[in-house]
Amino acid sequence: MNMEGEASPVGWARWGTTKNAQVLPESASTLLAQVLELAPPPPVVPLAEVTVPDCELDGAVLGALRQALGAGHVVTTPDARARHASGMSTPDLLRHRQGLVRAAPQAVLRPADHAEVVSILDICSRFGVTVVPFGGGTSVVGGLTPSAARHVAVDLSRLSDVVAVDPTSRTATLQAGLRAPRAAELLAEHGFTLGHVPQSYEYATIGGFAATRSSGQASAGYGRFDDMVMALTVATPRGTVRAGRAPASAAGPDLRQLFLGSEGTLGVITDVTVRIRPLPAQSHYEGWRFESFAEGLHAVRRLAQDGPQPTVLRLSDEVETMIGATGAGRSDGGCQLIAGYEGADVRSTVEAAAAVLAAHGGVPLGEEAGQQWARHRFDAPYLRDALLDAGAFAETLETAAYWSALPEVHDRVRQAILAALPDGALVLAHVSHVYETGASLYFTVICSPGPDPVDRWRKAKAAASDAIAAAGATISHHHGVGADHRAWYAAEIGDVAVDLLRAVKQQLDPAGILNPGILVP
Ligand SMILES: Cc1cc2nc3c(=O)[nH]c(=O)nc-3n(C[C@H](O)[C@H](O)[C@H](O)COP(=O)(O)OP(=O)(O)OC[C@H]3O[C@@H](n4cnc5c(N)ncnc54)[C@H](O)[C@@H]3O)c2cc1C
Repeated sequence: MNMEGEASPVGWARWGTTKNAQVLPESASTLLAQVLELAPPPPVVPLAEVTVPDCELDGAVLGALRQALGAGHVVTTPDARARHASGMSTPDLLRHRQGLVRAAPQAVLRPADHAEVVSILDICSRFGVTVVPFGGGTSVVGGLTPSAARHVAVDLSRLSDVVAVDPTSRTATLQAGLRAPRAAELLAEHGFTLGHVPQSYEYATIGGFAATRSSGQASAGYGRFDDMVMALTVATPRGTVRAGRAPASAAGPDLRQLFLGSEGTLGVITDVTVRIRPLPAQSHYEGWRFESFAEGLHAVRRLAQDGPQPTVLRLSDEVETMIGATGAGRSDGGCQLIAGYEGADVRSTVEAAAAVLAAHGGVPLGEEAGQQWARHRFDAPYLRDALLDAGAFAETLETAAYWSALPEVHDRVRQAILAALPDGALVLAHVSHVYETGASLYFTVICSPGPDPVDRWRKAKAAASDAIAAAGATISHHHGVGADHRAWYAAEIGDVAVDLLRAVKQQLDPAGILNPGILVP
Protein backbone atom coordinates (compact mmCIF):
# COMPACT_ATOMS: atom_id res chain seq x y z
CA MET A 1 0.00 0.00 0.00
CA ASN A 2 1.70 3.14 -1.13
CA MET A 3 0.83 6.84 -1.17
CA GLU A 4 -1.36 6.40 -4.23
CA GLY A 5 -3.05 3.27 -2.83
CA GLU A 6 -6.50 3.67 -1.33
CA ALA A 7 -5.41 2.38 2.07
CA SER A 8 -2.56 4.86 2.53
CA PRO A 9 -4.27 8.20 2.41
CA VAL A 10 -1.56 10.52 3.66
CA GLY A 11 2.11 10.96 2.97
CA TRP A 12 4.84 9.74 5.27
CA ALA A 13 7.38 12.44 5.94
CA ARG A 14 5.56 15.13 3.96
CA TRP A 15 2.06 16.18 2.98
CA GLY A 16 0.65 14.50 -0.09
CA THR A 17 2.62 13.57 -3.13
CA THR A 18 5.87 15.09 -4.32
CA LYS A 19 4.24 16.03 -7.63
CA ASN A 20 2.47 18.91 -5.87
CA ALA A 21 5.56 19.93 -3.89
CA GLN A 22 6.13 23.68 -3.55
CA VAL A 23 9.38 25.57 -3.71
CA LEU A 24 9.84 28.51 -1.33
CA PRO A 25 9.90 31.77 -3.27
CA GLU A 26 13.38 33.36 -3.33
CA SER A 27 12.09 36.42 -1.44
CA ALA A 28 10.67 34.23 1.35
CA SER A 29 13.94 32.28 1.68
CA THR A 30 15.86 35.56 1.93
CA LEU A 31 13.49 36.87 4.61
CA LEU A 32 13.77 33.63 6.60
CA ALA A 33 17.54 33.69 6.47
CA GLN A 34 17.47 37.28 7.77
CA VAL A 35 15.15 36.55 10.69
CA LEU A 36 16.02 32.98 11.74
CA GLU A 37 19.15 30.93 12.21
CA LEU A 38 18.72 28.03 9.84
CA ALA A 39 20.94 25.06 9.13
CA PRO A 40 20.34 22.31 6.56
CA PRO A 41 18.12 19.63 8.17
CA PRO A 42 19.27 16.02 8.57
CA PRO A 43 18.48 13.83 5.54
CA VAL A 44 15.00 12.26 5.50
CA VAL A 45 15.02 8.52 6.31
CA PRO A 46 13.05 6.74 3.57
CA LEU A 47 10.06 4.71 4.72
CA ALA A 48 11.66 1.54 3.32
CA GLU A 49 14.45 1.91 5.93
CA VAL A 50 12.10 2.42 8.88
CA THR A 51 11.87 -0.45 11.36
CA VAL A 52 8.58 -1.41 12.95
CA PRO A 53 8.53 -4.07 15.71
CA ASP A 54 6.86 -7.36 14.68
CA CYS A 55 3.11 -7.69 15.11
CA GLU A 56 2.47 -9.18 18.56
CA LEU A 57 -1.25 -9.89 18.25
CA ASP A 58 -1.87 -13.48 19.17
CA GLY A 59 -3.09 -16.00 16.62
CA ALA A 60 -6.61 -16.19 18.07
CA VAL A 61 -7.20 -12.44 17.59
CA LEU A 62 -5.72 -12.40 14.10
CA GLY A 63 -7.73 -15.51 13.19
CA ALA A 64 -11.00 -13.98 14.35
CA LEU A 65 -10.28 -10.71 12.53
CA ARG A 66 -9.32 -12.54 9.33
CA GLN A 67 -12.50 -14.54 9.48
CA ALA A 68 -14.58 -11.41 9.95
CA LEU A 69 -12.92 -9.23 7.27
CA GLY A 70 -11.18 -11.64 4.92
CA ALA A 71 -7.43 -12.27 5.30
CA GLY A 72 -6.51 -9.59 2.74
CA HIS A 73 -8.06 -6.89 4.86
CA VAL A 74 -6.06 -7.60 8.01
CA VAL A 75 -2.76 -6.01 7.00
CA THR A 76 0.38 -6.47 9.11
CA THR A 77 3.09 -5.22 6.74
CA PRO A 78 5.56 -2.76 8.33
CA ASP A 79 4.81 -0.15 5.64
CA ALA A 80 1.05 -0.11 6.28
CA ARG A 81 1.54 -0.15 10.05
CA ALA A 82 4.04 2.72 9.95
CA ARG A 83 1.73 4.79 7.77
CA HIS A 84 -1.13 4.37 10.24
CA ALA A 85 0.92 5.20 13.34
CA SER A 86 0.21 8.91 13.62
CA GLY A 87 -1.23 12.00 12.02
CA MET A 88 0.24 14.98 10.19
CA SER A 89 1.30 17.50 12.83
CA THR A 90 4.79 18.93 12.36
CA PRO A 91 6.14 16.85 15.28
CA ASP A 92 4.65 13.77 13.53
CA LEU A 93 6.41 14.72 10.28
CA LEU A 94 9.71 15.44 12.04
CA ARG A 95 9.66 12.04 13.74
CA HIS A 96 8.93 10.41 10.39
CA ARG A 97 11.75 12.35 8.77
CA GLN A 98 14.08 10.81 11.38
CA GLY A 99 12.71 7.34 10.67
CA LEU A 100 10.93 7.15 14.03
CA VAL A 101 7.50 5.58 14.45
CA ARG A 102 5.70 6.64 17.61
CA ALA A 103 3.44 3.62 18.16
CA ALA A 104 2.66 1.55 15.12
CA PRO A 105 -0.63 -0.35 15.18
CA GLN A 106 -0.26 -4.11 15.36
CA ALA A 107 -2.45 -4.43 12.28
CA VAL A 108 -4.38 -2.25 9.87
CA LEU A 109 -7.97 -3.47 9.51
CA ARG A 110 -9.94 -2.53 6.43
CA PRO A 111 -13.64 -3.23 6.97
CA ALA A 112 -16.00 -3.14 3.98
CA ASP A 113 -19.14 -1.99 5.76
CA HIS A 114 -20.88 -1.15 9.03
CA ALA A 115 -21.42 -4.83 9.93
CA GLU A 116 -17.69 -5.53 9.67
CA VAL A 117 -16.92 -2.55 11.91
CA VAL A 118 -19.36 -3.98 14.46
CA SER A 119 -17.54 -7.34 14.25
CA ILE A 120 -14.15 -5.66 14.78
CA LEU A 121 -15.42 -3.91 17.91
CA ASP A 122 -16.87 -7.16 19.20
CA ILE A 123 -13.65 -9.12 18.64
CA CYS A 124 -11.42 -6.36 20.03
CA SER A 125 -13.63 -5.93 23.12
CA ARG A 126 -13.45 -9.67 23.81
CA PHE A 127 -9.67 -9.81 23.40
CA GLY A 128 -8.94 -6.42 25.01
CA VAL A 129 -7.31 -4.93 21.90
CA THR A 130 -7.34 -1.14 21.54
CA VAL A 131 -9.02 0.24 18.41
CA VAL A 132 -8.09 3.50 16.65
CA PRO A 133 -10.52 4.63 13.94
CA PHE A 134 -8.43 5.98 11.04
CA GLY A 135 -10.00 8.29 8.44
CA GLY A 136 -7.63 10.35 6.32
CA GLY A 137 -4.87 10.34 8.94
CA THR A 138 -4.65 14.15 8.94
CA SER A 139 -5.05 14.73 12.67
CA VAL A 140 -2.71 17.44 13.94
CA VAL A 141 -3.46 16.96 17.64
CA GLY A 142 -2.23 13.40 18.27
CA GLY A 143 -5.71 11.96 17.65
CA LEU A 144 -4.36 8.72 16.15
CA THR A 145 -1.81 7.84 18.80
CA PRO A 146 -3.54 6.20 21.77
CA SER A 147 -1.95 5.70 25.15
CA ALA A 148 -2.30 1.89 24.99
CA ALA A 149 0.72 0.08 23.52
CA ARG A 150 -1.08 -2.64 21.55
CA HIS A 151 -3.64 -1.31 19.16
CA VAL A 152 -5.13 -1.87 15.74
CA ALA A 153 -6.01 0.86 13.25
CA VAL A 154 -9.45 0.63 11.63
CA ASP A 155 -8.87 2.21 8.23
CA LEU A 156 -12.25 3.28 6.88
CA SER A 157 -11.12 3.84 3.29
CA ARG A 158 -13.30 1.01 1.92
CA LEU A 159 -16.44 2.73 3.23
CA SER A 160 -16.27 5.21 0.40
CA ASP A 161 -19.65 5.45 -1.27
CA VAL A 162 -22.61 7.74 -1.40
CA VAL A 163 -25.42 5.75 0.25
CA ALA A 164 -28.31 7.99 -0.79
CA VAL A 165 -29.08 11.45 -2.14
CA ASP A 166 -32.43 13.09 -1.41
CA PRO A 167 -32.59 16.07 -3.78
CA THR A 168 -36.00 17.14 -2.46
CA SER A 169 -34.81 17.51 1.12
CA ARG A 170 -31.27 18.38 0.00
CA THR A 171 -29.59 15.72 2.09
CA ALA A 172 -27.07 13.00 1.27
CA THR A 173 -25.89 10.00 3.26
CA LEU A 174 -22.16 9.50 2.82
CA GLN A 175 -20.01 6.66 4.07
CA ALA A 176 -17.44 7.67 6.64
CA GLY A 177 -14.30 6.79 4.70
CA LEU A 178 -15.11 8.99 1.69
CA ARG A 179 -12.37 11.53 1.17
CA ALA A 180 -13.57 15.10 0.59
CA PRO A 181 -12.62 15.39 -3.12
CA ARG A 182 -14.38 12.11 -3.97
CA ALA A 183 -17.44 13.16 -1.95
CA ALA A 184 -17.49 16.43 -3.92
CA GLU A 185 -17.21 14.55 -7.21
CA LEU A 186 -20.03 12.14 -6.35
CA LEU A 187 -22.33 14.90 -5.09
CA ALA A 188 -21.58 17.00 -8.18
CA GLU A 189 -22.99 14.17 -10.31
CA HIS A 190 -26.32 15.00 -8.62
CA GLY A 191 -25.81 18.77 -8.99
CA PHE A 192 -24.94 19.34 -5.32
CA THR A 193 -22.04 20.38 -3.11
CA LEU A 194 -21.24 19.98 0.55
CA GLY A 195 -19.27 23.22 0.67
CA HIS A 196 -16.83 21.80 3.22
CA VAL A 197 -13.32 22.81 2.19
CA PRO A 198 -10.76 22.54 4.98
CA GLN A 199 -7.10 22.94 4.13
CA SER A 200 -6.73 19.18 4.60
CA TYR A 201 -9.41 18.70 1.91
CA GLU A 202 -7.27 16.46 -0.32
CA TYR A 203 -7.00 13.64 2.23
CA ALA A 204 -9.47 14.07 5.10
CA THR A 205 -12.68 12.04 5.27
CA ILE A 206 -16.35 12.54 6.04
CA GLY A 207 -16.11 10.44 9.22
CA GLY A 208 -13.02 12.37 10.31
CA PHE A 209 -14.82 15.70 9.79
CA ALA A 210 -17.67 14.54 12.01
CA ALA A 211 -15.39 12.97 14.63
CA THR A 212 -13.38 16.20 14.98
CA ARG A 213 -16.05 18.88 14.31
CA SER A 214 -14.05 20.21 11.43
CA SER A 215 -14.51 23.63 9.88
CA GLY A 216 -13.65 24.57 6.29
CA GLN A 217 -12.49 27.68 4.46
CA ALA A 218 -16.04 28.41 3.25
CA SER A 219 -17.60 28.12 6.71
CA ALA A 220 -18.98 31.68 6.61
CA GLY A 221 -21.33 30.61 3.82
CA TYR A 222 -21.81 26.87 4.28
CA GLY A 223 -21.29 26.55 8.03
CA ARG A 224 -19.04 24.23 10.02
CA PHE A 225 -19.19 20.52 9.34
CA ASP A 226 -21.15 19.87 12.53
CA ASP A 227 -23.78 22.37 11.31
CA MET A 228 -24.24 20.22 8.20
CA VAL A 229 -24.78 16.90 9.97
CA MET A 230 -28.40 15.76 10.00
CA ALA A 231 -27.78 12.21 11.22
CA LEU A 232 -25.02 9.70 11.81
CA THR A 233 -24.62 5.97 12.28
CA VAL A 234 -22.15 4.89 14.93
CA ALA A 235 -20.89 1.40 15.68
CA THR A 236 -20.09 1.16 19.39
CA PRO A 237 -18.86 -1.85 21.36
CA ARG A 238 -22.41 -2.00 22.85
CA GLY A 239 -24.17 -1.95 19.45
CA THR A 240 -25.30 0.55 16.85
CA VAL A 241 -26.57 4.06 17.53
CA ARG A 242 -28.38 6.07 14.86
CA ALA A 243 -28.61 9.70 15.96
CA GLY A 244 -30.76 12.29 14.13
CA ARG A 245 -33.87 11.66 12.04
CA ALA A 246 -35.54 14.95 11.17
CA PRO A 247 -34.45 18.47 10.22
CA ALA A 248 -35.04 19.55 13.80
CA SER A 249 -36.34 17.81 16.87
CA ALA A 250 -37.43 18.47 20.44
CA ALA A 251 -37.21 14.79 21.29
CA GLY A 252 -34.79 15.07 24.18
CA PRO A 253 -31.12 16.06 24.07
CA ASP A 254 -29.53 16.01 20.63
CA LEU A 255 -27.46 12.81 20.62
CA ARG A 256 -25.71 13.80 17.40
CA GLN A 257 -23.78 16.25 19.52
CA LEU A 258 -22.46 13.42 21.67
CA PHE A 259 -20.76 11.80 18.70
CA LEU A 260 -19.74 14.94 16.80
CA GLY A 261 -16.28 15.68 18.14
CA SER A 262 -16.03 12.35 19.98
CA GLU A 263 -12.75 11.60 18.16
CA GLY A 264 -13.21 7.85 18.00
CA THR A 265 -13.58 7.44 21.76
CA LEU A 266 -17.26 6.48 21.85
CA GLY A 267 -17.69 4.57 18.61
CA VAL A 268 -16.80 4.37 14.95
CA ILE A 269 -18.93 6.62 12.73
CA THR A 270 -19.78 4.60 9.63
CA ASP A 271 -22.03 7.01 7.75
CA VAL A 272 -23.13 10.62 8.00
CA THR A 273 -26.25 12.25 6.57
CA VAL A 274 -25.40 15.80 5.60
CA ARG A 275 -27.27 18.81 4.34
CA ILE A 276 -26.21 19.60 0.77
CA ARG A 277 -26.63 22.68 -1.43
CA PRO A 278 -26.96 23.13 -5.20
CA LEU A 279 -23.63 23.56 -6.97
CA PRO A 280 -23.05 27.32 -7.15
CA ALA A 281 -23.56 28.77 -10.61
CA GLN A 282 -21.30 31.70 -9.76
CA SER A 283 -18.25 32.28 -7.63
CA HIS A 284 -16.36 35.49 -7.06
CA TYR A 285 -13.25 36.14 -4.96
CA GLU A 286 -11.71 39.50 -4.22
CA GLY A 287 -9.11 41.10 -1.97
CA TRP A 288 -9.34 44.09 0.37
CA ARG A 289 -6.78 45.97 2.41
CA PHE A 290 -7.23 47.48 5.87
CA GLU A 291 -4.81 49.76 7.71
CA SER A 292 -4.70 47.50 10.75
CA PHE A 293 -5.95 44.16 12.08
CA ALA A 294 -8.23 46.05 14.50
CA GLU A 295 -9.86 47.93 11.62
CA GLY A 296 -10.23 44.74 9.57
CA LEU A 297 -11.74 42.90 12.55
CA HIS A 298 -14.30 45.64 12.95
CA ALA A 299 -15.34 45.39 9.27
CA VAL A 300 -15.51 41.59 9.35
CA ARG A 301 -17.62 41.70 12.50
CA ARG A 302 -20.07 44.08 10.83
CA LEU A 303 -20.57 41.56 8.00
CA ALA A 304 -20.81 38.59 10.37
CA GLN A 305 -23.38 40.33 12.56
CA ASP A 306 -25.43 42.40 10.14
CA GLY A 307 -24.66 40.85 6.77
CA PRO A 308 -24.51 40.37 3.95
CA GLN A 309 -22.43 37.29 4.66
CA PRO A 310 -19.80 36.22 2.11
CA THR A 311 -19.04 32.49 1.70
CA VAL A 312 -15.35 32.93 2.55
CA LEU A 313 -14.03 35.63 4.89
CA ARG A 314 -10.36 35.56 5.75
CA LEU A 315 -8.56 38.43 7.44
CA SER A 316 -4.77 38.20 7.86
CA ASP A 317 -3.00 40.18 10.57
CA GLU A 318 -0.11 42.52 9.74
CA VAL A 319 2.60 39.85 9.97
CA GLU A 320 0.72 37.29 7.87
CA THR A 321 -0.05 39.97 5.29
CA MET A 322 3.61 41.01 5.18
CA ILE A 323 4.84 37.40 4.76
CA GLY A 324 2.21 36.71 2.08
CA ALA A 325 3.16 39.87 0.20
CA THR A 326 6.88 39.05 0.47
CA GLY A 327 6.23 35.58 -0.99
CA ALA A 328 4.32 37.17 -3.87
CA GLY A 329 7.05 39.80 -4.43
CA ARG A 330 4.85 42.73 -3.24
CA SER A 331 4.99 45.05 -0.22
CA ASP A 332 1.37 45.90 0.58
CA GLY A 333 1.46 46.76 4.29
CA GLY A 334 -1.69 46.78 6.40
CA CYS A 335 -3.91 43.71 6.59
CA GLN A 336 -5.35 41.70 3.73
CA LEU A 337 -8.90 40.41 3.65
CA ILE A 338 -10.13 37.80 1.20
CA ALA A 339 -13.87 37.75 0.57
CA GLY A 340 -15.37 34.94 -1.50
CA TYR A 341 -18.94 34.57 -2.73
CA GLU A 342 -20.66 31.47 -4.10
CA GLY A 343 -24.28 31.07 -5.14
CA ALA A 344 -26.83 31.25 -7.91
CA ASP A 345 -26.33 34.99 -8.41
CA VAL A 346 -23.75 36.67 -6.19
CA ARG A 347 -23.60 40.15 -7.76
CA SER A 348 -25.93 41.96 -5.34
CA THR A 349 -24.25 40.33 -2.31
CA VAL A 350 -20.79 41.29 -3.58
CA GLU A 351 -21.91 44.90 -4.01
CA ALA A 352 -23.67 45.14 -0.67
CA ALA A 353 -20.73 43.58 1.19
CA ALA A 354 -18.30 45.87 -0.65
CA ALA A 355 -20.26 48.89 0.59
CA VAL A 356 -19.91 47.67 4.19
CA LEU A 357 -16.18 46.93 3.80
CA ALA A 358 -15.50 50.30 2.17
CA ALA A 359 -17.51 52.13 4.85
CA HIS A 360 -15.24 50.57 7.47
CA GLY A 361 -11.94 51.56 5.91
CA GLY A 362 -11.47 48.76 3.37
CA VAL A 363 -9.62 49.51 0.14
CA PRO A 364 -10.40 47.12 -2.72
CA LEU A 365 -7.45 45.11 -4.07
CA GLY A 366 -9.49 43.62 -6.88
CA GLU A 367 -10.37 40.16 -8.13
CA GLU A 368 -6.83 39.02 -8.89
CA ALA A 369 -5.91 39.11 -5.16
CA GLY A 370 -8.94 36.92 -4.41
CA GLN A 371 -8.30 34.55 -7.28
CA GLN A 372 -4.69 34.20 -6.28
CA TRP A 373 -5.80 33.08 -2.83
CA ALA A 374 -8.31 30.64 -4.37
CA ARG A 375 -5.63 29.18 -6.69
CA HIS A 376 -3.28 28.61 -3.74
CA ARG A 377 -5.87 27.67 -1.11
CA PHE A 378 -4.37 24.19 -0.59
CA ASP A 379 -0.69 25.18 -0.76
CA ALA A 380 0.05 25.75 2.94
CA PRO A 381 0.84 22.11 3.85
CA TYR A 382 3.15 21.85 0.83
CA LEU A 383 4.85 25.08 1.92
CA ARG A 384 5.31 23.56 5.37
CA ASP A 385 7.23 20.72 3.70
CA ALA A 386 9.34 23.27 1.84
CA LEU A 387 10.07 25.10 5.12
CA LEU A 388 11.07 21.86 6.84
CA ASP A 389 13.29 21.03 3.83
CA ALA A 390 14.89 24.47 4.23
CA GLY A 391 15.75 23.70 7.86
CA ALA A 392 12.99 25.83 9.44
CA PHE A 393 10.25 24.68 11.83
CA ALA A 394 6.63 25.57 10.96
CA GLU A 395 3.44 24.62 12.78
CA THR A 396 -0.04 25.98 13.39
CA LEU A 397 -2.50 26.26 16.27
CA GLU A 398 -5.97 27.71 16.55
CA THR A 399 -8.68 28.88 18.90
CA ALA A 400 -11.93 30.88 18.94
CA ALA A 401 -13.29 33.64 21.17
CA TYR A 402 -16.07 36.18 21.40
CA TRP A 403 -15.55 39.38 19.40
CA SER A 404 -14.97 41.42 22.55
CA ALA A 405 -12.09 39.15 23.61
CA LEU A 406 -10.55 38.50 20.18
CA PRO A 407 -7.94 41.33 20.10
CA GLU A 408 -6.66 40.35 23.53
CA VAL A 409 -6.50 36.66 22.63
CA HIS A 410 -4.56 37.54 19.47
CA ASP A 411 -2.10 39.61 21.45
CA ARG A 412 -1.67 37.22 24.40
CA VAL A 413 -1.12 34.13 22.26
CA ARG A 414 1.39 35.95 20.04
CA GLN A 415 3.31 37.23 23.07
CA ALA A 416 3.29 33.81 24.74
CA ILE A 417 4.75 32.14 21.64
CA LEU A 418 7.38 34.84 21.15
CA ALA A 419 8.40 34.61 24.81
CA ALA A 420 8.72 30.82 24.53
CA LEU A 421 10.93 31.14 21.44
CA PRO A 422 13.28 33.95 22.56
CA ASP A 423 15.80 33.50 19.73
CA GLY A 424 13.21 34.68 17.21
CA ALA A 425 10.04 33.47 15.55
CA LEU A 426 7.56 34.65 12.98
CA VAL A 427 4.03 34.46 14.37
CA LEU A 428 1.36 34.94 11.71
CA ALA A 429 -2.37 34.94 12.38
CA HIS A 430 -5.68 35.17 10.58
CA VAL A 431 -9.40 35.04 11.19
CA SER A 432 -11.11 32.61 8.81
CA HIS A 433 -14.30 31.40 10.52
CA VAL A 434 -16.75 34.07 11.65
CA TYR A 435 -19.94 33.94 13.68
CA GLU A 436 -22.37 36.54 14.97
CA THR A 437 -20.78 36.32 18.40
CA GLY A 438 -17.11 35.82 17.59
CA ALA A 439 -14.51 34.22 15.36
CA SER A 440 -11.61 31.80 15.20
CA LEU A 441 -7.96 32.81 15.31
CA TYR A 442 -5.43 30.66 13.44
CA PHE A 443 -1.72 31.08 14.16
CA THR A 444 1.22 29.91 12.09
CA VAL A 445 4.60 29.83 13.80
CA ILE A 446 7.88 29.70 11.89
CA CYS A 447 11.10 29.45 13.87
CA SER A 448 14.48 27.79 13.90
CA PRO A 449 14.23 24.15 15.00
CA GLY A 450 17.02 24.11 17.61
CA PRO A 451 18.61 20.80 18.61
CA ASP A 452 15.28 19.22 19.70
CA PRO A 453 12.46 20.82 17.65
CA VAL A 454 9.74 18.50 18.96
CA ASP A 455 10.46 19.39 22.59
CA ARG A 456 10.96 23.06 21.76
CA TRP A 457 7.53 23.14 20.09
CA ARG A 458 5.91 21.20 22.95
CA LYS A 459 6.96 24.00 25.32
CA ALA A 460 5.92 26.83 22.96
CA LYS A 461 2.57 25.16 22.26
CA ALA A 462 1.99 24.71 26.01
CA ALA A 463 2.68 28.42 26.54
CA ALA A 464 0.24 29.30 23.74
CA SER A 465 -2.39 26.92 25.13
CA ASP A 466 -2.01 28.44 28.62
CA ALA A 467 -2.46 31.90 27.09
CA ILE A 468 -5.59 30.73 25.24
CA ALA A 469 -7.03 29.35 28.47
CA ALA A 470 -6.10 32.44 30.48
CA ALA A 471 -7.76 34.70 27.91
CA GLY A 472 -11.02 32.72 28.16
CA ALA A 473 -10.85 31.30 24.62
CA THR A 474 -11.36 27.64 23.65
CA ILE A 475 -8.48 25.20 23.26
CA SER A 476 -9.68 24.30 19.77
CA HIS A 477 -12.00 25.81 17.19
CA HIS A 478 -11.57 23.00 14.63
CA HIS A 479 -8.49 20.80 15.09
CA GLY A 480 -10.03 18.97 18.02
CA VAL A 481 -8.58 17.74 21.30
CA GLY A 482 -6.65 14.55 20.52
CA ALA A 483 -3.97 13.67 23.03
CA ASP A 484 -2.24 17.05 22.75
CA HIS A 485 -5.05 19.28 24.10
CA ARG A 486 -6.49 16.86 26.62
CA ALA A 487 -5.26 18.62 29.77
CA TRP A 488 -6.51 22.03 28.58
CA TYR A 489 -9.81 20.50 27.48
CA ALA A 490 -10.33 19.01 30.97
CA ALA A 491 -9.70 22.41 32.55
CA GLU A 492 -12.03 24.06 30.03
CA ILE A 493 -15.01 21.79 30.73
CA GLY A 494 -14.49 21.25 34.48
CA ASP A 495 -14.62 18.21 36.80
CA VAL A 496 -18.33 17.42 36.56
CA ALA A 497 -18.27 17.41 32.77
CA VAL A 498 -15.13 15.25 32.80
CA ASP A 499 -16.96 12.69 34.96
CA LEU A 500 -19.95 12.86 32.63
CA LEU A 501 -17.79 12.10 29.59
CA ARG A 502 -16.09 9.24 31.40
CA ALA A 503 -19.48 7.80 32.40
CA VAL A 504 -20.75 7.93 28.81
CA LYS A 505 -17.57 6.24 27.59
CA GLN A 506 -17.89 3.56 30.27
CA GLN A 507 -21.45 2.82 29.05
CA LEU A 508 -20.63 2.65 25.35
CA ASP A 509 -17.14 1.18 25.60
CA PRO A 510 -17.02 -0.85 28.84
CA ALA A 511 -13.72 -2.55 27.94
CA GLY A 512 -12.14 0.86 27.23
CA ILE A 513 -10.83 -0.20 23.82
CA LEU A 514 -11.65 2.94 21.84
CA ASN A 515 -8.86 5.52 21.55
CA PRO A 516 -7.68 5.56 25.18
CA GLY A 517 -5.72 8.71 25.96
CA ILE A 518 -7.54 10.72 23.29
CA LEU A 519 -10.07 13.44 24.20
CA VAL A 520 -11.52 11.93 27.40
CA PRO A 521 -9.46 13.19 30.36
C1 LIG B 1 -2.29 20.40 6.60
C2 LIG B 1 -3.51 20.28 7.43
C3 LIG B 1 -4.52 21.21 7.31
C4 LIG B 1 -5.67 21.10 8.08
N1 LIG B 1 -6.67 22.01 7.91
C5 LIG B 1 -7.82 21.88 8.59
C6 LIG B 1 -8.90 22.77 8.37
O1 LIG B 1 -8.84 23.68 7.54
N2 LIG B 1 -10.03 22.58 9.08
C7 LIG B 1 -10.15 21.55 9.97
O2 LIG B 1 -11.21 21.40 10.55
N3 LIG B 1 -9.13 20.71 10.22
C8 LIG B 1 -7.98 20.83 9.54
N4 LIG B 1 -6.96 19.95 9.76
C9 LIG B 1 -7.10 18.89 10.77
C10 LIG B 1 -7.72 17.59 10.21
O3 LIG B 1 -7.62 17.56 8.80
C11 LIG B 1 -9.17 17.47 10.63
O4 LIG B 1 -9.20 17.22 12.01
C12 LIG B 1 -9.95 16.39 9.90
O5 LIG B 1 -11.30 16.51 10.24
C13 LIG B 1 -9.49 14.99 10.21
O6 LIG B 1 -10.09 14.11 9.29
P1 LIG B 1 -9.42 12.71 8.94
O7 LIG B 1 -10.36 11.97 8.07
O8 LIG B 1 -8.06 12.89 8.43
O9 LIG B 1 -9.38 12.03 10.37
P2 LIG B 1 -8.17 11.33 11.10
O10 LIG B 1 -7.01 12.23 11.20
O11 LIG B 1 -7.95 10.00 10.49
O12 LIG B 1 -8.81 11.14 12.55
C14 LIG B 1 -9.02 12.23 13.40
C15 LIG B 1 -9.65 11.74 14.71
O13 LIG B 1 -10.97 11.27 14.46
C16 LIG B 1 -11.08 9.86 14.70
N5 LIG B 1 -11.84 9.33 13.58
C17 LIG B 1 -11.55 9.41 12.24
N6 LIG B 1 -12.52 8.83 11.53
C18 LIG B 1 -13.46 8.39 12.41
C19 LIG B 1 -14.70 7.71 12.29
N7 LIG B 1 -15.17 7.35 11.11
N8 LIG B 1 -15.38 7.41 13.42
C20 LIG B 1 -14.92 7.76 14.62
N9 LIG B 1 -13.74 8.40 14.81
C21 LIG B 1 -13.03 8.71 13.71
C22 LIG B 1 -9.65 9.34 14.78
O14 LIG B 1 -9.52 8.22 15.61
C23 LIG B 1 -8.91 10.55 15.31
O15 LIG B 1 -9.01 10.63 16.72
C24 LIG B 1 -5.79 20.04 9.01
C25 LIG B 1 -4.77 19.09 9.10
C26 LIG B 1 -3.64 19.20 8.32
C27 LIG B 1 -2.58 18.16 8.41
